[in-house]
Amino acid sequence: MCRLEKEMLVDSHCHLSAEAFPETEIPALLARAKAAGVARVLCLNSANTGEDLAAVLALSSRHKAITPVLGYHPHEASKVDEPALRTLAEALRRGACSALGEIGLDFHHDLSPRPVQREVFAAQLDLAAKLRLPVVVHCRDAFDEVYAMLAAHVRDELGVMHCYTGDKAWAKRFLDLGMSLSLAGVVTFKGGGGLEEVARYVPDGRLLVESDAPYLAPVPCRGKRNEPAFVVHTAARLAELRGVPLEVLAVSTTACAERLFRLAPECIDSRDRTS
Ligand SMILES: [Zn+2]
Ligand SMILES: [Zn+2]
Repeated sequence: MCRLEKEMLVDSHCHLSAEAFPETEIPALLARAKAAGVARVLCLNSANTGEDLAAVLALSSRHKAITPVLGYHPHEASKVDEPALRTLAEALRRGACSALGEIGLDFHHDLSPRPVQREVFAAQLDLAAKLRLPVVVHCRDAFDEVYAMLAAHVRDELGVMHCYTGDKAWAKRFLDLGMSLSLAGVVTFKGGGGLEEVARYVPDGRLLVESDAPYLAPVPCRGKRNEPAFVVHTAARLAELRGVPLEVLAVSTTACAERLFRLAPECIDSRDRTS
């Protein structure tokens, strides 16, 4: 098992309110993350409901290592109406969230009609601009449109392309736009999903690492339920590809997360340590 001597990694994307994680298990899960070197996690809601937004805020209020990020996923864009957007805006303010997400377009699964996905994405980009929050973007088979919609909303630090799976040319375009890129366990898979080149290309300070737990467990945990502790394997693979020690990769990805999401430099809760 890869691990860091110090708790220094940020898992920039996971879904701890998902059914896969019974709430009683969260303290042990956070303890395993810390033992592996993960100081904190950004937790996104896993359903487009007011209840799930509240569940994430409740988790973050109980565990200082959990930073909340709320938004409406394109899969369930059909569920999002005006009142739901007001609920989101209210929850983002109440929870002092670090970002709005995950939002975007998914033309691979097409679980909501494309016009509805576009409308919900645009509405949330407007909301993020209004609240001055960075965005966490989900993009599957929709690079042209996601790029165009982000370009219409350019600010200094726009946000992050989460679980980035595009090529180097698209990486350059998104970086030029002000997006950072976050890589998930896919980069550890055989063949790396073609992401090795991207992993080497993204400059320091613009690269993040994520688990996307409970999905996409990295090698050597592939096939298991993913959890934040496993993000160390992805970080180790990124370090290998970039030719730097794991600690160096951890410092630079964490600095990127702290800047982008305005996280306080140290945020390790003593309650979590003893749990
Ligand atoms: Zn996603
Ligand atoms: Zn996700």
